[in-house]
Amino acid sequence: MRRDVDFLVIGSGIAGLSFALEAGETGTVCVVTKDRLPEGSSQYAQGGVATVWSPDDSFASHAADTERAGAGLCVPEIVDLVVREGPKRVREMIARGTRFSLRPDAEDAYDVDLGLEGGHSRRRILHALDATGREMMRTLVEAVVAHPQITVLERHIAVDLIASAKFDLPGPERCCGAYLLDVDSERIEVCAAPATLLATGGAGKVYLYTSNPDVASGDGVAMAFRAGVPIANMEFIQFHPTCLFHPKARSFLVSETVRGEGGILVRPDGSRFMADYDSRAELAPRDVVARAIDQEMKAHGFDNVYLDVTHCDASFLEERFPTILERCRSFGIDPVREPIPVVPAAHYTCGGVRTDSEGRTSLPGLYAAGEVAMTGLHGANRLASNSLLEALVFGRRAADHAVAHHAGVARPPERIPPWNPGRARTSDEAVLITQKWDEIRRLMWNYVGIVRSDRRLGRARQRMDVILEEIERDYWDFIPTADLIELRNLATVADLIIASASHRRESRGLHFNVDCPSPDEAWRRDSVLVRDAQSRRPVPA
Ligand SMILES: Cc1cc2nc3c(=O)[nH]c(=O)nc-3n(C[C@H](O)[C@H](O)[C@H](O)COP(=O)(O)OP(=O)(O)OC[C@H]3O[C@@H](n4cnc5c(N)ncnc54)[C@H](O)[C@@H]3O)c2cc1C
Repeated sequence: MRRDVDFLVIGSGIAGLSFALEAGETGTVCVVTKDRLPEGSSQYAQGGVATVWSPDDSFASHAADTERAGAGLCVPEIVDLVVREGPKRVREMIARGTRFSLRPDAEDAYDVDLGLEGGHSRRRILHALDATGREMMRTLVEAVVAHPQITVLERHIAVDLIASAKFDLPGPERCCGAYLLDVDSERIEVCAAPATLLATGGAGKVYLYTSNPDVASGDGVAMAFRAGVPIANMEFIQFHPTCLFHPKARSFLVSETVRGEGGILVRPDGSRFMADYDSRAELAPRDVVARAIDQEMKAHGFDNVYLDVTHCDASFLEERFPTILERCRSFGIDPVREPIPVVPAAHYTCGGVRTDSEGRTSLPGLYAAGEVAMTGLHGANRLASNSLLEALVFGRRAADHAVAHHAGVARPPERIPPWNPGRARTSDEAVLITQKWDEIRRLMWNYVGIVRSDRRLGRARQRMDVILEEIERDYWDFIPTADLIELRNLATVADLIIASASHRRESRGLHFNVDCPSPDEAWRRDSVLVRDAQSRRPVPA
């Protein structure tokens, strides 16, 4: 089966839906999403969206804070355009119906309460209590569902991009759409479009512990890589220091404010350790705390450490952290009486598909926006709450460019071949997938996690050689299922992270290697990888 639209959007988070609403004003749009519509990291964003809003703030100040966090790798022109366009995009969200938390004496929906977060020198975080992403997604989903030009395909997973050269299609090299697997019917169909947006979010699932939802398996990065598009800065993975550690608590973050309000980190025997690592102890920056916890866990073989607030006033805790208390209690942990078990968790993928200022990738007709993209905004470390902003700004910029250059022109060729299943058969051995899935996530956590070393990276590389070979064989032997597709993508992303981390001979921002622990001016550049035609593995561009 073949479906033709003007714009194909892969992913239904804030980046994908922002693009869809803009492009839908000009042409037909198909939004493909592998789960249900709101599922994705956008839905779980808590803190808020950063933008210059108050009269005592300035674009220069937001840009300076972003660049300070980015440790020398931000692209100043990109930072400048994102901070300048931010307020416009956020105003549009309010005009569409997003209700941010307001000041007590607010006169209208624009008179918002501005929060302050680590790394920001001014109050500039718009938030909707502690569930900002859910409120923004509510607005976007309502608008998309009501839009006559937008079709949403839920439970459809993009398998591969249709790059014209790879499939011997006539005309110059370009992206002509994607192959999609309908998860329920298990059929693979063609969606042809002159312009395609990758908005597939991050890749947190590549690590054993992550704050990301299950859909964050790095599919967009892997698909773009297979299509020959350069992938940049994959070594810069941001880890959140404190994720609740409980077998049933998937991805629940214990806010950093808990430490700010007096929470202390302790080993299983109750002894404090943060002062051994930094004079600011628990109030040290996020990366320092994550690294210290990782060191304690790896050195002593702990499964987790604990965040202790039992010495704090119980009524204060009830009032200040109702959601955290409620969630912990639902798992039988009462933070008022006992320490909370925590581990650091992969939180944000700074690297991704390299784009220009219009969200264009190197493959004509293919755009990328949101966490899947590497625009140059974050550099070596993301400033808190800048990612929702980036998704809004680049979702719109990519749509503007696609509308101007692709709508109604250069339709994809008539003859796009249907998906070729080759000699594949149905697999009845789910264990083949789950075993490798666990292996990759544990390997990445242990060898390519918060603290890296040449030895650990070398070991990771050796293991991945074997795993990738096995996956490539299984992938072509068996008819692709959603699990197999995600596994293959996860392995590709793991390989890219290992290659980027091994390539960079310094420590900078989020990348820390004990064998080259300092920044080195000679390495103040992006790590850009492309697919080697022979080995199909990543090599420096
Ligand atoms: C717990 C948590 C809290 C956060 N808090 C904040 C915050 O306060 N402020 C902030 O700025 N950022 C925050 N972030 C980061 C931010 O939420 C994300 O970076 C941002 O929402 C990414 O948006 P996106 O549109 O790029 O991707 P997502 O919202 O992740 O959406 C990706 C979409 O792609 C779909 N998809 C993926 N692969 C495929 C495929 N192969 N085929 C079809 N569909 C596919 C998914 O199903 C999903 O719909 C937080 C993240 C997490 C996890």
